[in-house]
Amino acid sequence: MNFRFDLSPSIQFGDNSSKQVGELISLLHAKKVFCIYDPGVKAAGLVDGIIEQIRNTGAKVVAYGDVTSDPSSEIVEDAARIGKKEEVDALVAIGGGSAMDCAKAINILLTNDAPIFKYAGLNEVKRPVKPLIAIPTTSGTSSEVTAATVISDKKEKKKIVILGRHVGPSHALIDPLLTLGLPPAITAATGIDALTHAIESYTSVNASPVTEVHSLKAIELIVKNLPKAFENGNDKKARTQMMLACLHAGFAFGNADLGLVHTIAHPLGALCGISHGDANAAMLPFVLAFNADAVPEKTRDIAKAMGIETKGKSDKETAELAASKLKELQCQIGLKSLKKLGVSPSLFDTLAEDALKEGALQFNPKKPTKKEIISLLEMAF
Ligand SMILES: [Zn+2]
Repeated sequence: MNFRFDLSPSIQFGDNSSKQVGELISLLHAKKVFCIYDPGVKAAGLVDGIIEQIRNTGAKVVAYGDVTSDPSSEIVEDAARIGKKEEVDALVAIGGGSAMDCAKAINILLTNDAPIFKYAGLNEVKRPVKPLIAIPTTSGTSSEVTAATVISDKKEKKKIVILGRHVGPSHALIDPLLTLGLPPAITAATGIDALTHAIESYTSVNASPVTEVHSLKAIELIVKNLPKAFENGNDKKARTQMMLACLHAGFAFGNADLGLVHTIAHPLGALCGISHGDANAAMLPFVLAFNADAVPEKTRDIAKAMGIETKGKSDKETAELAASKLKELQCQIGLKSLKKLGVSPSLFDTLAEDALKEGALQFNPKKPTKKEIISLLEMAF
């Protein structure tokens, strides 16, 4: 047995943990803090209290509230110029994956030269970064605990992944109360993203005994709690379990990496503009069934973690039951097929070409051909 498991950042989990931001800023002796968020999080009333806590420590706040979903290199480089000019000495990211990914990329450029795409790939960031406190407001991307950021190249219509050394946040304040009242559509899309991370990390060729435990726990918690959080956004218990699931999924895929669902979801997002969660949801049941004959035991474990009775069932039947359960969940929480998401079949060829160039493909347990990817897209249509 031989594996590597990286653990970072320092995590505080629980109700009101976001209120510890002031304490952390004082501990870090930060004098000027760069707060990064998007207009939606600000409108939801999640930003002002956190900024106030930071100001109460005597630190100055420089706010950047223009993060968009799937942040582009332009936004990152623009914000980094502001941060450099202001000489900020710590960063706080408030929001979902976009705000946290954006803050990670900005942080890289505060101590490393632009352009950001220079650092694409693994361990390309050379100089250490400043302390970054991530405060997630969704249970989906696990960006608060992973050493990866995804930035959009709008010109080339591609998503660029930067991962490894100096990319992850130094601290995560994971406060389930911040997710209360999150709209059902966002709850669904982000929750399915977390489920995809859990399943793909479990079947990844890079999985280890440590990541596998986290993957299975995440699958179990998400299948049980996502429908509840979707039905009642104020269900505190379900929200807490989803936040916990997301943490488990982050530990798992942050170390084991992902697979074919994300390999197809990235070009779907970049070329067709559909959200990351929607793209994952549409592909997940079909990729699970596609991979099943390469990892029959693991598919059985996934089915069991989803609460499926697998006793007496063949490998094929088990895989079919697991895929059906995922489709059922998808319908229950209002997620759509590629057709309903407005994806045109005329793009399938290009999508498959782009998917074959994605880095995560090397971790999928089975290598697909271009024809097989097109056929998966057709099934998900
Ligand atoms: Zn994802």
